[in-house]
Amino acid sequence: MRLLPAFLLAATAVYAAAPRQPNIVFIFSDDHAYQAISAYGESRKLLQSPNIDRIAKNGIRFDRAVVPNSICGPSRATVLTGKYNHLNGFPNNSNSRFDGSQMTFPKLLQKAGYQTAMIGKWHLGSDPTGFDFWQILPGQGAYYNPPMIKNGEQIKVSGYVTDIITDVSLEWLKQRDKSKPFLLMSQHKAPHREWLPALRHLNADKDRVYPEPETLFDDYSGRGIAERDQDMTIAKTMHERDLKLAPPNQLTPEQRKEWDAYYEPRNAKFRAANLQGKDLVRWKYQRYMHDYLATLRAVDESVGRILDYIEREGLAENTVIMYASDQGFYLGEHGWFDKRWIFEESLRTPLLVQWKGVTKPGTVNKDLVSNLDFAETFLDAAGVAIPAEMQGRSLVPILRGQRPADWRTSFYYQYYEWPAPHHVRPHYGVVTDRYKLVRFYGTSDEYWELFDREKDPHELKSVYDDPGYAKTKAELEKELARLRKELKVPDVVPAHWLGNQGRGGGKKGKQGRQEQK
Ligand code: CA
Repeated sequence: MRLLPAFLLAATAVYAAAPRQPNIVFIFSDDHAYQAISAYGESRKLLQSPNIDRIAKNGIRFDRAVVPNSICGPSRATVLTGKYNHLNGFPNNSNSRFDGSQMTFPKLLQKAGYQTAMIGKWHLGSDPTGFDFWQILPGQGAYYNPPMIKNGEQIKVSGYVTDIITDVSLEWLKQRDKSKPFLLMSQHKAPHREWLPALRHLNADKDRVYPEPETLFDDYSGRGIAERDQDMTIAKTMHERDLKLAPPNQLTPEQRKEWDAYYEPRNAKFRAANLQGKDLVRWKYQRYMHDYLATLRAVDESVGRILDYIEREGLAENTVIMYASDQGFYLGEHGWFDKRWIFEESLRTPLLVQWKGVTKPGTVNKDLVSNLDFAETFLDAAGVAIPAEMQGRSLVPILRGQRPADWRTSFYYQYYEWPAPHHVRPHYGVVTDRYKLVRFYGTSDEYWELFDREKDPHELKSVYDDPGYAKTKAELEKELARLRKELKVPDVVPAHWLGNQGRGGGKKGKQGRQEQK
């Protein structure tokens, strides 16, 4: 007989009397902004997402779910390991490769008797480990007719990526061994750049004019060079393919016909108008919103199909269903798309969980929770002991309505990838309910910022040099140091953690030096 690790033996003893192990359905999208989920009630009312909203209605909506590093691969590595990127070895998307031999929650669930499946976007370089079945998109994946890798074998599938991921997820659910609990990770490519919608959803909004965010024309005054010198604006960074002024190359001739029927007349009108300045930015924002939101219609339909299956099969009472994105995203706020920043729209990710019979329907939670907590939550729900090396905390008590009195009130953030893509300077910081203390590091432009979200909800003005904040600053500095020590953050970041080009890339000279504090 194989000896069980000590923590599994302990888990068996502790949870011997526990009821059946719940199934776990983890639906994960890529770059889905909470601003584009109707359950979050954002003022622009950008998208009606009735199926994603069902999870919030049946369970709990987390309003302050944050990520430790707001980009794709690093977030995924954190979900799997329950650890920060300085410990799981995946700090950036540029040159990181996930070490699949390390401890992950799917492996622990598999050892505890779960059937496990990973379907959709993986984006971690190495092959998935800890899964009985996996079918993934290579790299970023394609929206139409995507190549996929099924248990190590390359295949090509016809259709639209979100539908395919849903179909394969449902097929796997149907053929599973019904005597065992399961973990299904159903991970979408959508709504990642370049935001290519399902053809059936082109013009689903009937040429609606989307409300603009208040900060679409942010001039970045009140903040430092990092905010001014990024490369992620709707105005300057979006290219022809992003804006659908050039078609994608993945379409069949029939698909291309449908594509052109929607975009061509609108593009002709755009070219004839010869827009300039703010009018041009406004047009780009409208096109971006059409495409981004249209890709999400298929994601919402997908969630509906999965929920319907779980309900139809009578599994709802014993299944934890979680919907989250790998991070947040800018939908024109500060003139931006993309993510990366410690600032609110990218720091926060949507998080909705239902666990019927356990979580009170319609609960709203405002605690600082994180994707760092997902692995711990799933293990705890399954009655598997949480390894001490994990750095988050199980959300199960919160799901049960028993919020621990000592829940975290501060959170550590660290971003590495520099300079490409998007030229966002590396930074770390501490986030609380009200404040953010941020340190830009790793370039010649090292400096601090402090934001007071209560007085400045859009984070437009650093008050780091305001003497009125001296006490707050000192407290936050102390908390930042405490967190860095507790989380084992190295004092010096190795150059290759910043990405392929390592240190440098910062603008040197007068402008940079002026920013140093
Ligand atoms: Ca992402």
